[in-house]
Amino acid sequence: MLNLVLFGAPGSGKGTQSEKIIDRYGLHHISTGEVLRKQIKDGTELGKIADSYISKGHLIPDDLMIDILRQELKSLPKDSKGVIFDGFPRTIPQAIELEKLLAEQATELSGVIGLEVPEEELVARMIKRGKETGRADDNIDTILNRLKVYHDQTEPLKEHYQDKGSYMQIDGLGDVDSIFASIAKAIEAK
Ligand code: AMP
Repeated sequence: MLNLVLFGAPGSGKGTQSEKIIDRYGLHHISTGEVLRKQIKDGTELGKIADSYISKGHLIPDDLMIDILRQELKSLPKDSKGVIFDGFPRTIPQAIELEKLLAEQATELSGVIGLEVPEEELVARMIKRGKETGRADDNIDTILNRLKVYHDQTEPLKEHYQDKGSYMQIDGLGDVDSIFASIAKAIEAK
């Protein structure tokens, strides 16, 4: 199986590049942000809890997030070619749990694709997305909180994966197709 984590700050292009990776490699997509947004839209209890964190730009607590991921992995087709994890893990405990959950399914992480984009560009992209899609957490106050949370809680994962030799650094600036070409090259060199 090809199991990839797509890692990067909010606005780094994880959703866009996930779609291209799925098309090329036939992987199953798990986007924890999308799972949560669907729960909010459907007005579920989980959605209400999630909204109280997402609207402030905070992370959903690890225990809850790990339960959600466990459920998502359970619904994987048996003949799956692998998974692209988009937006998970976002903390060290989530990364450790992901390794355990994959091991329970007799598989492992193949690599981590790190999309690196300068901060001003991240902010500009999220503001544009907010205008185009109406995504509620793409407003300037929440964006700045999400970036702070990213630096404090998620960025340390880069070193975690570099130490394991699984981090593939990708320049996330430029047009979508050339970024995807760099990703494909990194995946195929693995
Ligand atoms: P995303 O669509 O990946 O940008 O996620 C949107 C929001 O959902 C984040 O700002 C968090 O509030 C929440 N979220 C998504 N994935 C996670 C995660 N792995 N851990 C904690 N919170 C998450």
